[in-house]
This record gives sequence, C-alpha cells and structure tokens, in this order.
Amino acid sequence: MTIITDHLARLAPASRGQGRLVAGSTATGAEISIPYIAARGAADGPTLWVTATVHGDEVNGTLAALDFVRNLDLAAMRGACIVIPAANPLAFDARAKTAPQDGLDIDQQFPGAAGGLTTQRVADRLWREIERAGDCLVSLHTLTAHFEAKPYGVYKLHPDGPVAEDVLLRHLSFYDPSVACLMPTVKAAGELPGNISGAIDYQFQALGKAAFMVELGAGSRIEWPYVEQGSAGLRRTAAEIGMFEDRPAPGGMLRKVLKRRHVTADTGGLFRAACTPGDILQPGSPLGVITDIFGDIVDTVTFAEPVLVIAARRDPVVATGDRIGFVATAWESRTLQSA
Ligand SMILES: [Zn+2]
Repeated sequence: MTIITDHLARLAPASRGQGRLVAGSTATGAEISIPYIAARGAADGPTLWVTATVHGDEVNGTLAALDFVRNLDLAAMRGACIVIPAANPLAFDARAKTAPQDGLDIDQQFPGAAGGLTTQRVADRLWREIERAGDCLVSLHTLTAHFEAKPYGVYKLHPDGPVAEDVLLRHLSFYDPSVACLMPTVKAAGELPGNISGAIDYQFQALGKAAFMVELGAGSRIEWPYVEQGSAGLRRTAAEIGMFEDRPAPGGMLRKVLKRRHVTADTGGLFRAACTPGDILQPGSPLGVITDIFGDIVDTVTFAEPVLVIAARRDPVVATGDRIGFVATAWESRTLQSA
C-alpha cells in the first residue's frame, strides 16, 4: 500500500484528508515534500488524480484543483479524488518552471529515478503513489507568463495504449477549450525540445488509463475565469468516470489541432500582438509587428496559409528566436456525441 492509498483507507466515508510525501531535504534541513489532498466518497468507485504545477509557475492549475476538491459533494461521490496542488514543490516555491537545484523539467522525467537528481527523485516519489492507484489523470498546466492564451487541451496517444482518442476528446470538451491539440510523441518540428515520453500524462496512459493535459491560460498570475473553467471541467471529468450520477454532456463541437508550431522572432525588438487567441488569421493577416528599440517597424509577422492562434506573446521584449506566438496550421472540427 502506498501512503495515499493507506490514508484513503483510513478516512471515514465522505471525508477528506491531507498530507505530504517526503522526497528528501534541503541544505538547511527543510523537508522536500509533495503536499496531497485525498478525498474519499461515500461509496467505493474510481479514483481520479489531479496534478497541478509540474511546472512550478503554472499557478492557475493549483487554484483550479483546490477549488475543485474542496467543493466536491463527498456524500454524493463514489470513489476517490487525489489532488497534488504543487507537484514540483521546489519549483513552486521558487516561482519558476523548474527547480533551482537542477533545472530539469520534471514533466520530462517521469517515472523518475530513486537515486537520481533532485527533480528525478521528486518525480519518483510521486510516481510510486500514482502508478498503484487511479483510473484517470488530469495534468493541469498553463503557458508561460509571457503569453496570453485561452484554456485548451493537449493529449497524446500512446502507441500501445488502449485509450481511445474519443474518450480523451470527450474529457477535454468538458473544459470548454479553444482547441484540443494532439501532441506528437515522436520528435516534431515546431515543438519545444524535450522528452515527451517523460510526461506524467504519457506515463499514466502507458498504464492503459485515460490521461490528458489542460492548459489554463498563462503562468505566474491568477486568471479567475480560467481557474473556474478548470475546476468546472474537473467536476465533469469526475462525473464522466462514474464518480457522480450526473454524467455530463460533451461540449459539442471541438476544434482538434493536427499540426501546431511555435512562431519565433526573426529579429530582436518589441513585439506587439495584433490578434487574440482563438482568431483565425488569413494569409497576409498579421500575428503582430516587431519594432526596433526606436519604434520603427522592422518586421510584420504573417503567414502564407491560414493559422488558428492558440497563444500570442504579451511580453513585448524579444530577442531573435524568442517565441512570439503559438499557432495551429492544420485543424478539423469534431462534433462529440452524447453517450
Ligand atoms: Zn506546463
């Protein structure tokens, strides 16, 4: 039995508990620990995991997860819900994406390494709890503070995983996303460099269970509408897997992104966005302009084909190669049927 499953077993039906998973200590002797909240329903049933801030500055997810779990009607709930409000505690405390000890992206490290670097040990400590229990996992993220984006979904399809794409799209529709992005699991142009298979949702899917990511706006600040969108979506996911009676209707039409890419600045200067997330830009229509430090326009950023804007940069200061937008270049509309 793991610490959390043991804790759940000791909880009275329809009650909630909390605790910490210890993954080590700092130089001054403070615990490196991962806080958790475990909520037990009135009857047995499925287990939902919600992890927030594997990237430590993506705080809308933390608030959405807390609002969700603290407002559950446990007397009407079957099964259990486990929330990890700060899945990367050292990064969270540092208000940064990664922990200052090693700079590793923890969402590229799962299932972790018991004898590894600090971040790998934290991943291992959390994963040993997760892999033993759970039917569905939602990994909450945001973009970086530099961007503006509406909430959207990201999912991967594990090559050996039996989880159907429609199951994931149905879940994602509950979060009213601007788009749902199928993320390639092999290296693809236009994506950030990294080890996709080390993502917590990908590893969970490798166990044959549904898992996906929800991006709730931008990092390092509260965006209340997106926090509420996230907590409402989690409630529907819980109902969808059978924790509540009111099985939700899917969100209807969903824009599924087949190809996406970051747009990077070809020249340094000040970027001014000329669009809003969700806009479709026709060829020649600008994402924005870059001026030099004297205010003269030195570049107008346009596309040769229509693009759907997922996110646009709001921090104007850019160097050559900085990300100024995140766009879909191929997408399709999917209508989701009620089950
Ligand atoms: Zn993230």
